[in-house]
Amino acid sequence: MSQQFDLVVIGGGPGGYEAAIRAAQLGFKVACIEKRIHNGKPSLGGTCLNVGCIPSKALLDSSHRYEATTHDLAEHGISTGEVKFDLDTLLARKDKVVDQLTGGVAGLLKGNGIEWLQGSGKLLAGKKVEFTPFEGDVQVLEPKYVILASGSVPVNIPVAPVDEDLIVDSTGALKFPEVPKRLGVIGAGVIGLELGSVWRRLGSEVVVFEALDAFLPMADKALAKEFQKILTKQGLDIRIGAKVAATEVNGREVTIKYNQAGEDKEQVFDKVIVCVGRKPYAEGLLAEDSGIKLTERGFVEVNDQCLTSVDGVYAIGDLVRGPMLAHKAMEEGVMAVERIHGHAAQVNYDTIISVIYTHPEAAWVGLSEEAATEKGYTVKAGQFPFAVNGRALAAGSAETAGFVKFVADEKTDRLLGMHVIGPNASDIVHQGMIAMEFVSSIEDLQLMTFGHPTYSEVVHEAALAVDGRAIHAIQRKRKK
Ligand code: FAD
Ligand code: AMP
Repeated sequence: MSQQFDLVVIGGGPGGYEAAIRAAQLGFKVACIEKRIHNGKPSLGGTCLNVGCIPSKALLDSSHRYEATTHDLAEHGISTGEVKFDLDTLLARKDKVVDQLTGGVAGLLKGNGIEWLQGSGKLLAGKKVEFTPFEGDVQVLEPKYVILASGSVPVNIPVAPVDEDLIVDSTGALKFPEVPKRLGVIGAGVIGLELGSVWRRLGSEVVVFEALDAFLPMADKALAKEFQKILTKQGLDIRIGAKVAATEVNGREVTIKYNQAGEDKEQVFDKVIVCVGRKPYAEGLLAEDSGIKLTERGFVEVNDQCLTSVDGVYAIGDLVRGPMLAHKAMEEGVMAVERIHGHAAQVNYDTIISVIYTHPEAAWVGLSEEAATEKGYTVKAGQFPFAVNGRALAAGSAETAGFVKFVADEKTDRLLGMHVIGPNASDIVHQGMIAMEFVSSIEDLQLMTFGHPTYSEVVHEAALAVDGRAIHAIQRKRKK
């Protein structure tokens, strides 16, 4: 290749494309290699834009509107008559949103003077990159820096082999041609709960099988308990401690065989979604002598600044340790580039937000009460429900479930974590994230004036509740 690049990014997902853009802003000559074909066309944006965050949120939004129209309007005195949805239109809208965003990323790369190399990239020894285009000859690039951003793929389990028809992974579950009457979901993680909710709202009878004995073990216990109660009330049949041992396809049906509480059971479904996690994807990415070290679980080994075992080569996003989240990948991409440029950038891994986009949403940042206690903090915690919040009550009973909970250090009053179930939890939780970034105390939050009537008043009340002084509750343990 005639052109000399300062930086080659392998992978054009949220981690890779943000790294490429930031590098171009800083004056680097950048190429981004991406091999994804989506709906027959080369596509940027990675898992997130093509088959992850965005299409799943498009379906969550459409299905929520349908459910809200059929369930939540009567109390407002609004009658609608028969409400129907057209699945083809609903799926086509999702595809349009995906096209708009992936096209937008292509425009951003072009506008920033970044070369999108369509095909596969492989890191060779000595920091060289082999580029195999969809068409044409293989080329070897010799950039000054490389960022590996090849992302992740769904985990397959031998007990439920994906056939892309009756047994699908998260990608297949974004495009069922019709609503399955009986839907089995294996894995009660974030993706399983979101996709299970989409199809339940559209009419499927959904059973979620979770092998572990706890629901959302990584979440704050109070949040997990409330969340499971709410989802169950909505009609998701969540079976905890139910390990799927086999699946059997008979004609157009799948039998799931599972073990729960020592008992072997089985149930028949029309479709099954396998959502048992994701694994780093490095197939064809590294020549044997590339010098890159992998961990036992297949992640590229990196330090806190995402530098690999090879000088000048960074790795980011789902390919490396930490939560598999788009915003984490994005910030790592920016950090890697800024480090290359000589800035002292550092992602704060303690304030990465987690969100589950059901309705109500569940979201958290920082430590759960249990994790904080385990870390040796003397914990104080407080929570406040949306059920008595003026704005939530005015909006309707669909918005009154859940609470905001704060976890803090009794000794220093420092905020350690925030846990939210409720309306707009995905946005509300950013208040906790910003507060934690500014090393806020609970008192800081107590002293602020929150607008009325807003959902955010629950944030204020939860901060007050930590010290037993919430106003719209009878709090007996007044300390201050
Ligand atoms: P990816 O987005 O996976 O991008 C990597 C890209 O690299 C891919 O496009 C791949 O084709 C390309 N590539 C790989 N190898 C090569 C190679 N050798 N040469 C050229 N190109 C290559 N996260 C959130 O934060 N919020 C959410 O709401 C959310 N929802 C999700 C819902 C679903 C159904 C799924 C599956 C995931 C969801 N995620 C969500 C996770 C999120 O999609 C990932 O964390 C994010 O996409 C990771 O970004 P990345 O840049 O590391 O990798
Ligand atoms: P996550 O990694 O958050 O996407 O969640 C995936 C979930 O799938 C985990 O909670 C696993 O315990 C669960 N899981 C994995 N294998 C099985 C299985 N065979 N049967 C039921 N659940 C499973």
